[in-house]
Amino acid sequence: NELSPPKQNRANDSDTSDKDEPEISTADVSLIRKKLRDKLVNIKHEVEVLRKDPKSPLYFVKSFEELHLRPELLKGIYGMGFNWPSKIQETALPMLLADPPKNMIAQSQSGTGKTAAFVLAMLSRVDPTLRYPQAVCLAPTYELALQIGEVAEKMGKDIPDLYCRYAVRGERLARGQRISEQIIIGTPGTTLDWAIKYKFFDPSKVRVFVLDEADVMIATQGHQDQSIRIQRSVILFGVIKMLVQVYVLWHQMSKTCGYIIIRCGYYGDTLKYTRRQYSGSIGVQWRSLRTTRRTVSWLAEQMSKEGHAVAILSGDLTVEQRVAVLNRFREGKEKVLITTNVTARGIDVEQVTLVVNFDVPVDVNGHADCETYLHRIGRTGRFGKSGIAINMVDGPRAMGIMKKIEEHFGRKISRLNADDIDEIE
Ligand code: ADP
Repeated sequence: NELSPPKQNRANDSDTSDKDEPEISTADVSLIRKKLRDKLVNIKHEVEVLRKDPKSPLYFVKSFEELHLRPELLKGIYGMGFNWPSKIQETALPMLLADPPKNMIAQSQSGTGKTAAFVLAMLSRVDPTLRYPQAVCLAPTYELALQIGEVAEKMGKDIPDLYCRYAVRGERLARGQRISEQIIIGTPGTTLDWAIKYKFFDPSKVRVFVLDEADVMIATQGHQDQSIRIQRSVILFGVIKMLVQVYVLWHQMSKTCGYIIIRCGYYGDTLKYTRRQYSGSIGVQWRSLRTTRRTVSWLAEQMSKEGHAVAILSGDLTVEQRVAVLNRFREGKEKVLITTNVTARGIDVEQVTLVVNFDVPVDVNGHADCETYLHRIGRTGRFGKSGIAINMVDGPRAMGIMKKIEEHFGRKISRLNADDIDEIE
């Protein structure tokens, strides 16, 4: 039957593993996010500030002028088109620029102005007349370090005699050389070697230490130790606390989603219904997670034949190609994005209002995989927006798994009847 996906990859089969999918690293996911982000994301909710001493006054700024920055830096900021501090910058910047300096952990969704904030802090705290590194910023990968460097170079372009140096693989220095640039942006391994092994700079003279994407760094093997050896402080403790907060937040966000199940007999029906829903006036963005590569090609072919502009995010694309696919989807050139479980990981596209799970999430033993489920439906209804997740349930086994998921989260999942198209729409 043309309307059936490849047999061995049928969703809800016991073997729904992504064996044929190369893994995407968390660092690449971050890079894709950064490259996709060309403007500020406005957050509506309040910024929550947790402080060691809750009695000390909290400062906010509503303009960059209030920060009393040097004129060249202010010029750089306005030159980038920043007119006002972003929501998190309003609170973060006065803290980052405070004297005596304070440690800070900032956590917010990507695109809210964290990079710009810490770059500004680095630029403002270094003294260009001194020719040695005074600010060090660590990023999980070479590419992420370059992204930060680009921001620093743009923002600091009018400050005379201020330079950045990249401590990344491939950068070679002669033995005995001393670095004269005031800012080092690098990966932990190379930065650590430069400081400790080769003594290219003196880490005790560093006044600003930034750990970008701390959670990613922890996930990227080996970086954890190196980061901590560079700055013997309470970073690890801070990171653990932050991860706990991320976890709690994640669970809270999932409450805004409505989970819906469609019962359907076979895939032919499934396709018909999603198609009708899709071609309605709502113009929903649609994507399916946790399907393997072959199912994805099959589905894309079926939908293309129907005249839909379909984008596919497959595991063999490079970061650049992925960014291009996601950008087209974001611009609405393609309304349907089909991804596998692996390729969808960590990617937020704000317009996604509907996630269709083509199969129910199971672990290697064929049991309900609640965490994966949460991860998938977390794509919609995030950050206060509402969204819908639809799970295709095609038999008693899949229904049993959905029941387990309901029990796990203590939430009722509404049933929709696949035979009643009005109800679905
Ligand atoms: P994050 O590090 O939280 O992902 P970024 O600092 O990279 O966020 O900022 C996201 C986007 O918003 C970037 O394109 C950046 O140039 C822009 N941006 C940052 N701060 C401001 C601001 N105050 N006003 C306008 N745009 C800003």
